[in-house]
Amino acid sequence: MRNSLDPRVRGALEPLLRVQRLGVFTDIDGTISPIAPTPAAAVVDRACRDALQRLVGSSTRVAAVSGRAAADAQAMVGLDGLRYIGNHGLEWWADGVTMPAPAAVPYVAAIAAALADLAHYDLPNGVLIENKGVTASVHYRLAADQAAAAALLGTWLAAICQDHGLRLWPGRMIYELRPPLQLNKGTALADLLREDALDGAIFLGDDTTDVDGFMTLHYARAAGLQTLAIGVLSAETPEVVRETCDVAVNGVAGAAALLTWFAAQRANFWEKDRQIG
Ligand SMILES: [Mg+2]
Repeated sequence: MRNSLDPRVRGALEPLLRVQRLGVFTDIDGTISPIAPTPAAAVVDRACRDALQRLVGSSTRVAAVSGRAAADAQAMVGLDGLRYIGNHGLEWWADGVTMPAPAAVPYVAAIAAALADLAHYDLPNGVLIENKGVTASVHYRLAADQAAAAALLGTWLAAICQDHGLRLWPGRMIYELRPPLQLNKGTALADLLREDALDGAIFLGDDTTDVDGFMTLHYARAAGLQTLAIGVLSAETPEVVRETCDVAVNGVAGAAALLTWFAAQRANFWEKDRQIG
C-alpha cells in the first residue's frame, strides 16, 4: 500500500509538476513523522525525507513549517537546503540561527508566566509541558483519560491565557499557547510565496494550525498561482482539516507515497525539459 497513490491525488498534482518556481511545504508531526507518545520520540519517515531531499535537487523551494521550535524542526528533519519555520510561523531558522518574529519576542515572558501558573494546578499524570520560547505546548496524549485531561486543561488554560494576554489553540492531543498575533503557518507560507516569487506550491498538514496554511494556498490560487492543500488524515484528524484541504492522503504512509511520486515525477520532468530545451 505504501507506494500506491490515489489517481485523483495524482491528477491534482500533475499540473504542479510543470510549475517552474514551485514550493513544497510540509508540516512535520503527524504529516511526515508518525505521531509518537512524546515529541522527543518522534522520527521523520525515511521515504519522506528522501523525497524532500530529491525535491531540493529539482529546482524546488522546500520548507518544513512546524509547531516545534524552529531549531527543533531543523534537528528533526536534518536536511540541508530546506527552510525551517517553527512555532507556527513565529520563528525562522537559517544557518544555525533562530530568528523570532520581532512582534513575538515580548511574549516570551508571558508564556513563561502562564506555564508557571499552570504548574500550580494538580495536573493529570502524563501531561507534558513544552516551553518553546514564543509559544508553549501542553500535551496530554499520555494521560490515562485523554478526554478528561482535555476538558480540565482546556478550562484551566483558557483562564491562564486570558490572564496573560495569550491565545489558546487546541490540536491533536495538545493545547498550544500562542501570542495574540496575526502570525501563523498561513502568514509563513505567504512570506515564502512572496520572498521566492513562487508560481505555485503544495502544503501538507494534519492539524488545526495547518488550516491557516491551506487557506493561504486557496487565496494564492484565486490570485492565479497553482496550489494544492493536502490533508494527511488519521482517526484523530480535526474536522476542519478534512473540510479545508483540496485532497487527502491516509497518514504518514500516504504522505510518503505522495512525496515519493511527486519528487520522482518532478525530477523526470525537469530532466526531460532540459534535454528538449
Ligand atoms: Mg502536525
